[in-house]
Amino acid sequence: MKPLSSVATSIPRSGIRELMDLAWRTPGVIHLEVGEPDFATPDHVLEAAARAGAEGYTKYTPNAGIPEVREAFATKVNARNGFITAPDNVVVTVGAINALFQSIMVLCDPGDAVLIPDPGWPNYEIVAKAVGVRPVRYPLMPDAGFAPDLEALEAAATTPGAKALMMNSPGNPTGAVFDRATQEQMLEIAQRHDLWVISDECYEDIVFEGPHVSPAAIASPERVISVYSMSKSYAMTGWRVGYAVAPREVAAMMAKLAEAVTACVAGVAQKAAQAAVEGDQTCVAEMRGAYQRRRDLAADRLEEADMLVARPHGAFYVMVDVSAAEQDGYDLCRQLVTDHGVAAAPGETF
Ligand code: PLP
Repeated sequence: MKPLSSVATSIPRSGIRELMDLAWRTPGVIHLEVGEPDFATPDHVLEAAARAGAEGYTKYTPNAGIPEVREAFATKVNARNGFITAPDNVVVTVGAINALFQSIMVLCDPGDAVLIPDPGWPNYEIVAKAVGVRPVRYPLMPDAGFAPDLEALEAAATTPGAKALMMNSPGNPTGAVFDRATQEQMLEIAQRHDLWVISDECYEDIVFEGPHVSPAAIASPERVISVYSMSKSYAMTGWRVGYAVAPREVAAMMAKLAEAVTACVAGVAQKAAQAAVEGDQTCVAEMRGAYQRRRDLAADRLEEADMLVARPHGAFYVMVDVSAAEQDGYDLCRQLVTDHGVAAAPGETF
């Protein structure tokens, strides 16, 4: 047999998924490895989905999404994200991951480079490599609450072929929330080196201190693809709905590519997402309150044990200093599952 694609074989596997597979095979495990709300999808969203099924939203939809759903997302961005957009700028995607994939596909040619945070969500590297793009890391500084090292970012921006800067605030796995001044400096670097900005804002609703700031509200939205998700805000990970807000031609190109990747998002799921963004937002505030109480509890306990790296200000992750274990993170996490019934993600994967 001829060998499988060298691109596919060179892509790393997510360490989160590796531990998740092990945890799924082990009954009774407490899941702290995967970024998934433990809340149920709100009832009014379930009801909207059932109605949509009965009303016939069971067919293909336009590649960019159902028009009224794109409109609902544009209205939400105009009201809550501090910049003005229109339905034509919105592409409904199969979760944020699909929006990120299509963003990189639209912006980059094979051999180009994309700047990604270190530590950062493993999928940034996976997505880049899947389309033949080189991921180049820019460091986040543990001693500064995982704020980006701007000098190192500037240096990374000079990488030959650098095309795009990936920003992620609130961040996975750090929980860092970049303030406006930091984002302004990052965006100035992007502007100086003529980089596109891909802003992964899937944790926009889970911020405990200070407001969430969207880069497109600072820089020209003509330079930015903003990526949002239903997964975390509304406990809808399995519905697989996200969306990108991009300059009009970029959005049109992403919609064209969707035909090759997903064709469209399930109509019922799109209508459920519309109900989520248009409905009562009390559920979002309640879940955020619960995450904040858990953050306080976890961070306080880790601080007492001298194992806290930095107090997270958003998202629902905390990085734990396990250097005292003097053990590979993967081995330690496997042992946590088998010996203690707790699944966590190995730091190395980020
Ligand atoms: N971006 C980040 C930083 C994430 O942590 C995740 C999921 O864990 C996603 C995107 C994926 O979100 P979605 O479920 O919308 O694909």
